Amino acid sequence: MFIFASKQIKMQHIIDRFISYVTIDTESDHKSESTPSTAKQWDLANKLVEELKAIGMQDVTIDEKSYIMATLPSNVTQEVPVIGFISHFDTSPDFTGANVKPQIVSNYDGKDIVLNAEKNIVLSPSYFKDLLLYKGQTLITTDGTTLLGADDKAGITEIVTAMEFLINNPEIKHGKIRVGFTPDEEIGRGAHHFDVEKFGADWAYTMDGSQIGELEYENFNAAGAKITFKGKSVHPGYAKGKMINSMLIANAFINELPAGETPEETKGYEGFFHVHHLTGSIEETVLELIIRDHNKKKFEKRKELIEKITRKINKKFAKQFGEDIVITEIKDQYYNMKEKVLPVKHIVDIAEKAMKEIGIKPLIKPIRGGTDGSQLSYKGLPCPNIFAGGHNFHGKYEYVPVESMQKAVEVIVKIAQLTATEDSSKK
Ligand SMILES: [Zn+2]
Repeated sequence: MFIFASKQIKMQHIIDRFISYVTIDTESDHKSESTPSTAKQWDLANKLVEELKAIGMQDVTIDEKSYIMATLPSNVTQEVPVIGFISHFDTSPDFTGANVKPQIVSNYDGKDIVLNAEKNIVLSPSYFKDLLLYKGQTLITTDGTTLLGADDKAGITEIVTAMEFLINNPEIKHGKIRVGFTPDEEIGRGAHHFDVEKFGADWAYTMDGSQIGELEYENFNAAGAKITFKGKSVHPGYAKGKMINSMLIANAFINELPAGETPEETKGYEGFFHVHHLTGSIEETVLELIIRDHNKKKFEKRKELIEKITRKINKKFAKQFGEDIVITEIKDQYYNMKEKVLPVKHIVDIAEKAMKEIGIKPLIKPIRGGTDGSQLSYKGLPCPNIFAGGHNFHGKYEYVPVESMQKAVEVIVKIAQLTATEDSSKK
């Protein structure tokens, strides 16, 4: 049932495995405080444990928070760095992941794909131009009513399939490989309870990027600010010199932020302030924003600016209000992994070389967000991110080309091989 045609990883095998994962609902939930945030994530977690054992992985463990780890022992005698591959089994709460009905589009003709005729939902290359990269390939799409869950069940499919391939082809040399599957990545908690020490790898890769070729080791430095504005409500007819409208102060605060430095007006390495929540009345307004910048110095400057505007407005109202009218709380969220990866840059170079050796053009670019890898890097496990192949994550237009998943499997196998054969003194 598991046959390799000239060492090619069989497409149908990948499709079957992927579908067996995405048809299990594992949507995570921001509002929950438990780990995993939703009990249904156990459904897939438990299945993965059984599957890892079935393909012959060793030391397969699952802890009380559903974190899964497993080992593929080294098959070489010399000492080789221990590497890891990581992905997450939850799906985004942004769109429903219940009753996913994957559709297979073979030999994609480059035209519109009708996801749902009844609801007139069409996946069109005129809007999603990336589709044209995959003409002639096999795509897996949704039926237009759910997300697909390629983020990140494509990554899990690829890791399991690569481990199985290495087990079935022992002539391919590799060191000890650790596998880690986590819950709750989509709600920013995937790395929170990840036991880096227990994992015991020198470095790892998250298989959680998008387009084939993506290789990422830079992400934003991130902070969130909650800014509370106080006010004084007075009858509008008698308000002169007395009323303080907190909503208008919040408005003045927003106007002090640099124009054009918003998500919708920036790209590449440009940072931003993003006002994402604003609720208010005369007596109190709460403004929430996030601060993002790849550059650590600029990131600190941005946080200082928030404090500076706060002080300026507080000073202006000091007499009239008697106490601080603006209260600002800034919390750092995560940092650019580049700082932790650059000292061990060869871990990126190996991934890049692996891609080139199997004919993939590496696309190295900064992430405009964070990954679990950034948190793991700061916990002591340097962890760049590699493509898993999917597109249009977190919604009904999500799709994944099976050929990209096949290539990701090959990348994992190649990285394992290169790590065991390259000069490991660079470790
Ligand atoms: Zn993901």
